[in-house]
Amino acid sequence: MDSAAMTDGFHLVIDALKLNGIDTIYGVAGIPITDLLRLAQQEGIRYIGFRHEQSAANAAAIAGYLTKKPGVCMTVSGPGFLNGMVALANATTNCFPMILISGSSDRAIIDLEQGDYEELDQMNAAKAYAKASFRVNRPQDIGIGLARAIHAAVSGRPGGVYLDLTAEVLGSTLDVETAKKSLIKPVDPAPSQIPSQESVKRAVELLASAQRPLIILGKGAAYAQADQAIRTFVESTRIPFLPMSMAKGLLPDSHPQSAAAARSYAIGQADVVVLVGARLNWLLSHGKGPLWSDATQYVQIDIAPTEIDSNRAIAAPIVGDIQSSVEALLAEIKPNQIQPSPEWLQGISERKDKNVRRMAERLNADPQPMNFSSALRVVRDVLSDRPDIYVVNEGANTLDFARNIIDMSEPRKRLDTGTWGIMGIGMGYAVGAAVQSGQPVVAIEGDSAFGFSGMEIETICRYRLPVVIVVLNNGGIYRGDPVGSSPSPTGFVHDARYDKLIEAFGGTGYHVETSASLEKALKEAIERGTPALINCVIDSSAGTESGHIQSLNPKSGLKK
Ligand code: ADP
Ligand code: MG
Repeated sequence: MDSAAMTDGFHLVIDALKLNGIDTIYGVAGIPITDLLRLAQQEGIRYIGFRHEQSAANAAAIAGYLTKKPGVCMTVSGPGFLNGMVALANATTNCFPMILISGSSDRAIIDLEQGDYEELDQMNAAKAYAKASFRVNRPQDIGIGLARAIHAAVSGRPGGVYLDLTAEVLGSTLDVETAKKSLIKPVDPAPSQIPSQESVKRAVELLASAQRPLIILGKGAAYAQADQAIRTFVESTRIPFLPMSMAKGLLPDSHPQSAAAARSYAIGQADVVVLVGARLNWLLSHGKGPLWSDATQYVQIDIAPTEIDSNRAIAAPIVGDIQSSVEALLAEIKPNQIQPSPEWLQGISERKDKNVRRMAERLNADPQPMNFSSALRVVRDVLSDRPDIYVVNEGANTLDFARNIIDMSEPRKRLDTGTWGIMGIGMGYAVGAAVQSGQPVVAIEGDSAFGFSGMEIETICRYRLPVVIVVLNNGGIYRGDPVGSSPSPTGFVHDARYDKLIEAFGGTGYHVETSASLEKALKEAIERGTPALINCVIDSSAGTESGHIQSLNPKSGLKK
């Protein structure tokens, strides 16, 4: 056969990605994928190169969450692959669709453990942490491999998928005709899943009997992009709602039916709770006491049938996709059939007012040095007329405070540590959100959290992304060490100047010690729309160990 009619694994991978509308790849270059990335760029795919695979894969994961299409990350073999695995596992845990594609070394050597460069049985290593894990061993299977990866990533409950490409497959040739025929574009890989009519009826009957109903919206609901149906469901039933952290903004936090400021009361007193794409995991105290009452009954809408009864008995499960399920509920509910009692609405509203008043006192104080509340009040005020801005948020206290203080008014704009409470997603999510949306991002980072992905400020500067990072700097994990003491397990360098880091790469650094200078810096940085980092000094004694989840932090009898 004449060589002009031949192609190879490299080209086939790119052809398969393009056929499936994948226009962006996140990754880190190296053996054996460097040429693959060059070819991708040459073929018009946007390539975003990172400094560490974990951030690249986090960017792909958040792109998947925002678009409902699998985000794609490419890494080298062995350690590069493993660096990406934390993010792949995190994506799976959070139900974000992504595909991690790694090159791998010689299988013949790997399988006999003869010691190849970056030797690792990647496909099997990934299986425990991914929704699915596949290996392509022949170039004519590249198309099938990608199709299977796409189906696995986006169908049902979305998740992270690993696709192993051996160096051999990338380099092997195939005739163009066979190659062309081998490619697949999946038809409807995330089909609607219509719930049974019976399950919908059962749920409506339960809701109609409720005096104190409550809707809890999770990030599954945000992911589903069923924004209008959900809003209609909430507003037409007049049921109070609580957003989980990444569901904030699905309905604006300022919505009169939001029970967020009366969370414990609402959860503790509700008689029927509708879970919409939210799991009864640790973030909801597993549905158990002391937060929850034993008498509470649940409607749970989820695409994963095995989620039902995972922590508590669910009286009325609705297994289906959220758009179809909420539409089915709306079709079934008769006018005025659901009536939250006036006492219930009144009770929530009284608690809300009281808590909002109490919080306002803390927010309006202007201590010197700043603390979490006073610094975040400034950030809140600056962001309040910029609903277009994505907010990335990680840290311990920085997360707890920002989640409560910073209101969201648009869906899928708040990206945070999610189901695991993982640290290190910050810069990866910031890059992913900025690249995918073209919109500005403000990343609100604890100084410790920032450190996990901090080197990606070079990536942010290289691509000139509109990302502003606010580091709430109290000099440590939870808080800083006293001046002059030797480093404790939680302390960092005193008076660290994170702002100088970004200057090394051509970004703008700000060092602020007062609320007025924070306000000025943040406004200016957002206005400029170019990479910036604000080193926001707060009281080194501000912050509680483990933030709001101290109950999960075991203590020894250690003297302090
Ligand atoms: P949160 O942390 O906000 O409570 P979780 O990640 O715990 O949210 O829950 C999300 C749930 O949403 C998961 O159980 C997942 O199966 C479900 N889910 C994801 N996408 C959809 C969808 N399109 N339709 C229905 N359920 C979905
Ligand atoms: Mg800190």
